[in-house]
Amino acid sequence: MITNRTFTMIKPDAVEAGHTGAIIKMIEEAGFRIVAMKKTKMSSERAGQFYEVHSERPFYASLCEYMSSGAIVPMILEKENAVADFRKLIGATNPANAEEGTIRKLYAKSIEANAIHGSDSDENAQIEGNFFFSRTEQF
Ligand code: GDP
Repeated sequence: MITNRTFTMIKPDAVEAGHTGAIIKMIEEAGFRIVAMKKTKMSSERAGQFYEVHSERPFYASLCEYMSSGAIVPMILEKENAVADFRKLIGATNPANAEEGTIRKLYAKSIEANAIHGSDSDENAQIEGNFFFSRTEQF
């Protein structure tokens, strides 16, 4: 099913560094409407569930530890062509390869602590949004 929504979370490095407001401003100025948002913290078990698809990758344990190391700000966002447009706004996984002006280029610290998540498909956007938000929290 094609939707006009994507899921994001501002990751612990960017929240800790005080970039939450600047990142939300970039998201809204790029034309995304915030459907749901909160500040929360994942346990390492919960981070493990979220990144289950990466469980065979060598950085899985480190990623789960990092993603549970501090507060995050998950959000559901709405815009036409949301998934692809948001991936463009955040830039490449490794900030060293991210284009100028992208969120990761501006705020990411490393390939792991890369400031922000963006869903890679409509299907995952829906699964990931529902991981954090109930129907009554989505407006
Ligand atoms: P994304 O879709 O751009 O977030 O990238 P992936 O889905 O491939 O990876 C998920 C997350 O795992 C990334 O956003 C990074 O936080 C982390 N990650 C990806 N590749 C590496 C890597 O080579 N080393 C480490 N330590 N972390 C990585």
